[in-house]
Amino acid sequence: MAKPRVIYWFRTDLRLHDSPALKAALDLEPAVLWPVFTWDPHYVYRARGGTNRWQFLLDCQNDLSESITKLNPNSKLFVLREGPQTLFPKLFKAWKVTHLVFEKDTDSYGRERDEAVAEAAEKAGVQVIIRSGRTLWDSEQVVTKHGGKPTMSMTALLSASKKIGDVPRPIPSPKQLPDPGEMPVDFVQHQPDTKPDINAERRTNNDTGYKHIAGPCGDFAIETLDELGFVPATTPHKGGETRALKALDAIIKDKEYTATFEKPKTSPAQFDPQSTTLLSPFLHFGALSVRELYWRVQDVVNSYGSAASAPPASLTGQLIFRDMYFAAQAAIGPHFQQTAGNGHCRFIPWHLPSRLDPATGLTTGDYHVDSEQADEWFRRWKQGVTGFPWIDALMRQLRHDGWIHHLGRHSVACFLTRGGCYVDWERGAEVFEELLLDHEPACNAGNWQWLSCTAFFSQYFRCYSPISFGQKWDKHGDLIRRWVPELQNLDAKYIYEPWKAPIQDQKKAGVRVKGDGLRDVEVGTYPKPMFDFNERRDACLAAMKTAYGVGLYGDDERVSTGTWREM
Ligand code: FAD
Repeated sequence: MAKPRVIYWFRTDLRLHDSPALKAALDLEPAVLWPVFTWDPHYVYRARGGTNRWQFLLDCQNDLSESITKLNPNSKLFVLREGPQTLFPKLFKAWKVTHLVFEKDTDSYGRERDEAVAEAAEKAGVQVIIRSGRTLWDSEQVVTKHGGKPTMSMTALLSASKKIGDVPRPIPSPKQLPDPGEMPVDFVQHQPDTKPDINAERRTNNDTGYKHIAGPCGDFAIETLDELGFVPATTPHKGGETRALKALDAIIKDKEYTATFEKPKTSPAQFDPQSTTLLSPFLHFGALSVRELYWRVQDVVNSYGSAASAPPASLTGQLIFRDMYFAAQAAIGPHFQQTAGNGHCRFIPWHLPSRLDPATGLTTGDYHVDSEQADEWFRRWKQGVTGFPWIDALMRQLRHDGWIHHLGRHSVACFLTRGGCYVDWERGAEVFEELLLDHEPACNAGNWQWLSCTAFFSQYFRCYSPISFGQKWDKHGDLIRRWVPELQNLDAKYIYEPWKAPIQDQKKAGVRVKGDGLRDVEVGTYPKPMFDFNERRDACLAAMKTAYGVGLYGDDERVSTGTWREM
């Protein structure tokens, strides 16, 4: 019998170590294996990823390609520029493919895409092999073990996963890879209907578009930021499996840090180095296997004895939270990322963006009276010019670096929603989607729901102060001085509340507190706070009480009440 001709489709797993799907492909003992990445127009034109995340992806692709070439000098990561739904049916025929193998993706777009590709494969007589490898436990299996329900707590996740068994031990990287086969692309290309073809000018073969499918130079090269039309990235964080494994080695070497890690005790204000692992972007792109991380940590914990920390605060506890969100999303489906149609997400009548009625030019009546004001607060939050230095520092760090500490994310998310602006969590999640290196649809939506008390967490009276929470970690305001240079020389006494600094102190520090940070911004100024935090906190608390108390949620026993408490 002829040996298999296999396409290995890299997507959420840009690595060679611990890849159950890659192992399944190699177990076929293929005659040829094409390691392929499809440059999907959905991601290029529709996904809201910023330049930093694209750069991180390119780092991961380049590193993976080099690692593939090290195992087989004839091979590399072959990037094809077309949506997989239209590309694969043509490749199946032109390359005489027998098998398509990939890692399972439970994100909503991923599911839809994979169903379409699997259907096309079936029609073409190509066998599809899918393996779970992105989470500790297969999210779909978790859902089944949880009776088809979403895992809305860590306890739920743990009890469902217990029925599956231990997290599988990681699989070693392959020692060699088969040659790729011939790669004819003499078929008609599919033009994405979303945007004009940005490579039209560069194509050398406009009639057929072969070069377009295979890249500007026809060599299946990895795309560049320039080709994608992005400006250079600003993030200092670099991607790739090699870096991920090196970073993991350094963490594991510090046995005490690894074994006694407790998330609530790590500082959101610490930078260079940060207080948590910063492995999330690697996990997002699959440059680091989550099972590799889990077992490397668990082995240290097992040998450390009773002083080791335990879930939920421990390092493995963080990974379990990750699985909880993935499994919740797998059960709820595409509506997981929004309130509408998501029966597990509470409806809160947030201030919505103001919209003008095109007929009258007036704000439509459907929206809350304060919506225009809240819209401005949202814009100031997004730009990092709220006038609250702790919030602004974090939002500027996020924009520049693409990563902020978990408790920093807590602070800014609480502030935008139930602890300040009363703006819909979905608007905040969209900003994170654009700016985060580690943007993970399940984790982002799930954590925003947690912070806004719309799902997973309901103690809405527990709030983050934009002043005292930061002070608790960083009295001198080093994080603020790093990211809000306007305030660099301000006395520590005023660094969290610069509007309280007397004019002489402002002058001495070379800054004036004035303006709103959006309009007619003068050099040497820092904006006034956009509201009185205590007033807003009380208004939000009252509104949340009403929203929770109006009987919308029937007999939900998790509804809680109380007076404001700082977290
Ligand atoms: P560590 O503390 O070192 O944890 C190790 C790993 O555990 C992380 O890399 C991550 O994969 C996982 N993890 C830790 N905390 C969580 C958590 N609460 N939920 C899910 N996984 C977790 N994380 C993302 O990976 N992608 C997102 O899009 C994302 N959006 C978030 C949005 C908000 C509003 C909030 C509050 C949190 C969000 N998180 C997200 C979770 C968390 O903040 C990051 O995973 C973490 O800060 C990454 O830094 P680290 O790798 O140093 O984490």
